[in-house]
Amino acid sequence: MPVYEYRCNCCGNRFEALRKLEERDVPIECPGCKSSNTRREVSTFGTTKSSGASKLSSSCSNTGSSKFG
Ligand SMILES: [Zn+2]
Repeated sequence: MPVYEYRCNCCGNRFEALRKLEERDVPIECPGCKSSNTRREVSTFGTTKSSGASKLSSSCSNTGSSKFG
């Protein structure tokens, strides 16, 4: 199984996960804050300009401990 890279939209954590190809775009839980508000990072070389407004979601359900790890 290939390794995919994900980023948490909630706490900004970046992590890798070993997943099946058909499951690469299925939402995965962030190991840092346990939020499922994550997205797959696409490995791109160089920088691309992002057009359009970027919406910031503040629906972080981060309750309890404040330590990661
Ligand atoms: Zn997170």
